[in-house]
Amino acid sequence: MLQGTPILVLKEGTERERGKGATANNIAAARAVADAVRTTLGPRGMDKMLVDSMGDITITNDGVTILKEVDVEHPAAKMLVEVAKTQDQQCGDGTTTAVVLAGELLKRSEYLLEQNVHPTVITRGFQLALQEAKRILESEIGTAVKPEDEAVLIDCAVTAMGSKGVAGAREGLATTVVKAVRRITEERGGKTVCDVDQIKVEKRHGGQVSDTEFIEGIVLDKERGHPRMPVEVANAKIALLNSALEIKKTEIESKINIKNPSQIQSFLDEEDKTFHKMVDAIKASGANVVICQKGIDDVVLHYLAKEGIYAVKQVKESDLQKLARATGGHIVTGIKELSGTDLGKAAKVEQRKIGEDHMTFVTGCSNPRSVSILVRGGTEHVTQEVERSLQDALKVVASVLEDGVVCPGGGATEVELSVKLRKWAASVGGREQLAVEAFAQSLEAVPWALAENGGYDSINTLIELRSAHNGPAANRNIGVNLADGKAADMWKLRVLEPARVKRQAISSAVEVASMILRIDDIIASRKSAPAPGGPGGHDH
Ligand code: ADP
Ligand code: MG
Repeated sequence: MLQGTPILVLKEGTERERGKGATANNIAAARAVADAVRTTLGPRGMDKMLVDSMGDITITNDGVTILKEVDVEHPAAKMLVEVAKTQDQQCGDGTTTAVVLAGELLKRSEYLLEQNVHPTVITRGFQLALQEAKRILESEIGTAVKPEDEAVLIDCAVTAMGSKGVAGAREGLATTVVKAVRRITEERGGKTVCDVDQIKVEKRHGGQVSDTEFIEGIVLDKERGHPRMPVEVANAKIALLNSALEIKKTEIESKINIKNPSQIQSFLDEEDKTFHKMVDAIKASGANVVICQKGIDDVVLHYLAKEGIYAVKQVKESDLQKLARATGGHIVTGIKELSGTDLGKAAKVEQRKIGEDHMTFVTGCSNPRSVSILVRGGTEHVTQEVERSLQDALKVVASVLEDGVVCPGGGATEVELSVKLRKWAASVGGREQLAVEAFAQSLEAVPWALAENGGYDSINTLIELRSAHNGPAANRNIGVNLADGKAADMWKLRVLEPARVKRQAISSAVEVASMILRIDDIIASRKSAPAPGGPGGHDH
């Protein structure tokens, strides 16, 4: 009797798309994202100019930056953006690669879906292929490196900084990166740990990229508190304070009733005495530099200047912590508790003019557990892109030091995996074999895009690469030489990458592709109408 009467389970206005239509729609959206970033892959990739709603411009070649800045609407496309973010957090590099691979896996899956291979079979095949790929990567492609292999570390940093923005200064920057990461490397519980957050990257435009400087200590974006203070203090003994050198103001409004003029004087004298006590406590500790997280009263600054003490106020908490690690000092809360043993040490504290600004340099720390890099470049856009490249390189060098495994770049690793997986596919059997083969083909998207972006004929390059990885004279290190589009040994060209970047890129690509493939029903609730008169409520 119910026949013909539609049963409404979902709220009116809910949009629903099911089955193959839903899958196709999701795949198309995800592929659109992958297509958008593919042209930026590799050192010859193009840059993108992004203009946000405020009109601010970002020029970048970095996959994750592009995807973060662009406002993506479609839910499946958003999932791809998340992959780039995960990759960035885990490895700092390989974001474009992960997205391109995910797009390619989905493209090949579409073909399998058309042939009525069930999504579950495809995802199972991808999982099997992924496990095998990880095994091959570890045992047959990766090469172990020791922390002393400075040249390899520099090569990895140079490869990570592939983008054109830093082209001329790449070697110098790579050396700086390796020096900085080495400085903060620690052995913890038998493991090597590189906490790159301990490397402070400051940037100032003006000058050239090659003026970028490594500092065995910390750079603060602050000038000294008083013009009479010394500009430079040698053999600095630094008090690190996280409480204010001021007289506390009462929270509630308070009044002082004064009956004669002498009272006002004694009140001011009392205030002055308190300030004097603060300065005396600093002097007594032996400090000649004060770095304070909170404010310092002008009167205190004046007295400190008289004593020849260099003081900086309103320093960020994170900077204070880095200073403690760099100088070996302790952060002190109450000025009364300050003693000589709390002071940090540095060969020099000085104020320098960088571009338009005055900055404080705490340099020559004896065994700094925290260091800085001051990035320079012609314009703000340049320094921003240099900083992004540096951040990639810092994490890349850290992962090589932590894991100790590198593999060849330039698509060599992907082609080798592809060739090996194709051979292995036969042993899988069943319909999953088709998915394993699709996976193997998808990996070729990386050398393909590298060659294409370099302006070469991708087909020719790929044919050359395949034959170099097969047969009796096979060489697993052959990738694309972007100078001529021909096959070349990546260890000879010194294009190297951490195995972690490759492993993570492939894993995250499989993860997101599988997730998208498993969706067969999209239920979208109706967007709530914008409030009348609210932003965007009018123009239609
Ligand atoms: P991602 O965001 O994935 O790191 P990139 O634009 O940094 O993307 O490009 C990385 C790819 O470029 C890697 O496959 C890497 O091996 C390759 N690559 C970097 N430098 C070179 C080079 N000099 N020659 C050939 N390939 C290179
Ligand atoms: Mg990169």
